[in-house]
Amino acid sequence: MRYLTLGKTGLKVSEVGFGGIPIIRLSMEEAVAVLRRAVERGVTLFDTANLYMDSEEKFGRALAGERLRLVLATKSIKRDRAGVEAEINLSLARMRTDYIDLFQFHQVSQENDLNTLTGPGGALEGALAAQKAGKVRHLGVTSHSLEMAQRLVKMGLFETIQFPFNFVEEAAATELFPAAREAGLGIMAMKPFCGGLVDKARVAFAFLRQYPDIIPLPGWDTVAGVDEVLDLYGQENVVTPEDLADMARYREELGDKFCRRCEYCQPCPQGVLITPAMLYGIVAHRMGPAKAAAFATKIMPTVRECIQCQECEARCPYGLPIAETIQHHLQLFEEHCRAAGISEG
Ligand code: SF4
Ligand code: SF4
Repeated sequence: MRYLTLGKTGLKVSEVGFGGIPIIRLSMEEAVAVLRRAVERGVTLFDTANLYMDSEEKFGRALAGERLRLVLATKSIKRDRAGVEAEINLSLARMRTDYIDLFQFHQVSQENDLNTLTGPGGALEGALAAQKAGKVRHLGVTSHSLEMAQRLVKMGLFETIQFPFNFVEEAAATELFPAAREAGLGIMAMKPFCGGLVDKARVAFAFLRQYPDIIPLPGWDTVAGVDEVLDLYGQENVVTPEDLADMARYREELGDKFCRRCEYCQPCPQGVLITPAMLYGIVAHRMGPAKAAAFATKIMPTVRECIQCQECEARCPYGLPIAETIQHHLQLFEEHCRAAGISEG
């Protein structure tokens, strides 16, 4: 494991960090085992968010004893001063610490978010006050919009940028990352497994390790998964022709409008299970229609409750046409059920 300086924060961090979303689905005990395995294997950068349900509490339980040698990063989606101050205090309590190494403004992708955040009474004021009080050491930002991220790195307000980056979504390598480097920002890559849709760690990291100053934040949900990726970091990186063929196959399968499983669209007021419904097409492609239909009998019927209100679409950072896509997947599911003789629910 190499240790890098995270841009102008000056923080020394492991060349690969830990992303806090997938531990949401684990029990406390399982999450603690996964987090501790990452620490044992040399990971020192741990990134989560106020929004990620009990992820911060799991960080607190697993990592509090190692606090001094770790770098804890979290984020808040709040755009107002009072909201962000309250969430910083909540993060501190949940993570059992009295300081956050890196506090990030979460998912700043829209113009009005940026205006509110930087305006009078905005979240920036709250984060600066927390920084002055010693609760927060450094300020960063995350975004899913390339155009907005390019503006954010040039503003001089933030010390790090976190952006989706993997072999399917590689646009950031062209202008965003060079601009961030030039401005001295630390760069972190979210979604190294394309939001969990790439199941070959070797392929995902063969691509990412070609960018040695960019720190990927894989989310792990098993100890074996931690070992699989960190074993790769013990070897020289070689991108083989087989890796390139796998990358091409994944790109073709996923296209450019795929659901990254980030769950920002949830919850649906009608109870539609949006994320698994969005993934039905890929699941059917991978498992075959009959198995996919059997697997989805408790998921896809919820789509019939959709009233096309588009609340979820307003929350999706990728602007996906959710209402239309899930209806299309419902039709597919119904066809698959009929062909396989499965009740459509
Ligand atoms: S468009 Fe449908 S799935 Fe989306 S929030 Fe509205 S009811 Fe739920
Ligand atoms: S539909 Fe959009 S917001 Fe919802 S999980 Fe997929 S990518 Fe995320």
